[in-house]
Amino acid sequence: MHKTPSLKDFRRIVVKVGSSLLVDSAAGKLNDDWLTSLAADIAALHQEKRDLLVVSSGAIALGRAVLKLPSGPLKLEDSQAAAAVGQIALARSWSEVLGAHAITAGQVLVTLGDTEERRRYLNARETIDKLLEWRAVPVINENDTVATSEIRYGDNDRLAARVATMVSADLLVLLSDVDGLYDKPPSAGDAKRVDVVARISPEIEAMAGASESQFARGGMLTKIEAGKIATSAGTHMVIASGRVPHPLQAIAQGAPCTWFLTPANPVTARKKWIAGSLEPRGALVIDAGAVKALRSGKSLLPAGVVKVEGAFGRGDAVVVRGPDGHEIGRGLIAYDAEDADKIKGRSSADVPAILGFSGRTEMIHRDDLVLGGE
Ligand code: GLU
Repeated sequence: MHKTPSLKDFRRIVVKVGSSLLVDSAAGKLNDDWLTSLAADIAALHQEKRDLLVVSSGAIALGRAVLKLPSGPLKLEDSQAAAAVGQIALARSWSEVLGAHAITAGQVLVTLGDTEERRRYLNARETIDKLLEWRAVPVINENDTVATSEIRYGDNDRLAARVATMVSADLLVLLSDVDGLYDKPPSAGDAKRVDVVARISPEIEAMAGASESQFARGGMLTKIEAGKIATSAGTHMVIASGRVPHPLQAIAQGAPCTWFLTPANPVTARKKWIAGSLEPRGALVIDAGAVKALRSGKSLLPAGVVKVEGAFGRGDAVVVRGPDGHEIGRGLIAYDAEDADKIKGRSSADVPAILGFSGRTEMIHRDDLVLGGE
């Protein structure tokens, strides 16, 4: 039996909120009381020095409610225009409910390319990192107004998982209208909720397929997809009910839910992902001092780099070699090859003068670096 994690175990938490929880379609407005209770939970965790991010759905649902559009499926252009109306109201509400706890909200609207193209991914990550550094709570959604059907996520479960892995969150909370994954449709009287999923096996996927057709409005299949993305990159995930006030407090107090665990500890899993999923585009040769620094868990600074090889761009995977040419590890580099070459061997403090902009202090941050044998 796997031990169920506790919310207290996590430092950086992404909370995904589904449209049906946020929007009271009949009344044509947001569920203000519920949102207020969720904001209080977020504030309590934020107060304890955790980083909190929200992935909020509801732009289209709220927009269609405000515009009083007829029920039933919307054409793409209608949902895009509805999202324009809904998103502005949604962002305002988040800003207000978090503001009541003296927390600043920052709206981040992303399209698929922002997480799937490495360079844009790094840019989005830096912006979000900055917001977190300022202790703001990023409120993220897909930019539905400009995302066309071929190039959209379409569901915020997978979007939230991508965001969670992008910021190396250690937990993704999916608040849903169901309180977890069931082994069969709950309408079958003996359906049991699965408390812990240690690995997303074919059996687990089959459960999601079965529940999808029977009851899950948000779609259990996209939640399982989200679970795969999150856990393989080192982020735990929990599916819990948002049909209660103070839904995060409820999880902390042991409300029913389904936990999806990462196979290894988060850092190692993320590093496996770096080592395993990207084609190296170049190499850096580093000096003996830098090899020692990396082995003791430090980042790679420009000062330790003696040679830059290949034509890579910022965010690409590169091989790191020791003075004898032996591969030490691999990592995601924070500079283009040309810039890396200009700043190699130099102190980080000199970088702005050499390049004309202040890039990252590290050539490869330790979170983006995997050493052989790790
Ligand atoms: N991005 C959509 C919206 O805000 C929601 C997608 C989803 O519910 O998964 O309306």
